[in-house]
Amino acid sequence: MASGRVGDSYGGFRAQLVEALRQKGIEDLAVLRAVGEVPRHLFVPDAFRQRAYEDSALPIGLGQTISQPYVQALSLQALQLSGRERVLEVGTGSGYQTALLTYLADYVVSIERIPELARAARGNLDAAGIRGAQVVVGDGTLGWRPLAPYDAIVVAAAGPEVPRPLLDQLVLGGRLVAPRDREGGQVLVRIVRTATGFEETELAGVIFVPLIGRHGRPEDANA
Ligand code: SAH
Repeated sequence: MASGRVGDSYGGFRAQLVEALRQKGIEDLAVLRAVGEVPRHLFVPDAFRQRAYEDSALPIGLGQTISQPYVQALSLQALQLSGRERVLEVGTGSGYQTALLTYLADYVVSIERIPELARAARGNLDAAGIRGAQVVVGDGTLGWRPLAPYDAIVVAAAGPEVPRPLLDQLVLGGRLVAPRDREGGQVLVRIVRTATGFEETELAGVIFVPLIGRHGRPEDANA
């Protein structure tokens, strides 16, 4: 579990963000509490600090973004975490969602393909006093075998298909939430592994950066 919270003067803004998410339909109290605790301003570049508690995506460098809080809250809510799970996150980015996950699960491993971002995310998590998460560098479309299987997997970048290795690394009853390309945009899907296969539901239309890797888009898709 997460521990160590930095005292800061952004508490009021965080409370407003929590209220905004509640009004948009987020009901999971643990998710709302996590958003109320994690200092998002420590996960955005200095130039955007004043906008850290707006419900919007922001650039974090290297062509990547910290996702919109509402979409992250929607994804996390759909994972239905009780606090005891082992969770894999694909696409660490700033580390903000990784931080939220430490409040919702027992152990979090987050994989990022860009080493500079992974390094920055570790720094952000340290600065925020967040423990209980491991950030690794690699192609997350292959999952992360050393700690598989996972009770839940959340993907923060969109590809043409949900990567098969991720489905294979889910426990029976495990939940996965990921954006997937579709005609004219992307859709956030929730997949549950059952005794007989996988059950899928569509949650919402979304916009994510591309998932680049062996079971995602080719390397130059970001250009
Ligand atoms: N959840 C993040 C948002 C990150 S944006 C946050 O809260 O800030 C998506 C991230 O996915 C980017 O950092 C991008 O580099 C990363 N990414 C894209 N394809 C990937 C892959 N195959 N494996 C791991 N990370 C990937």
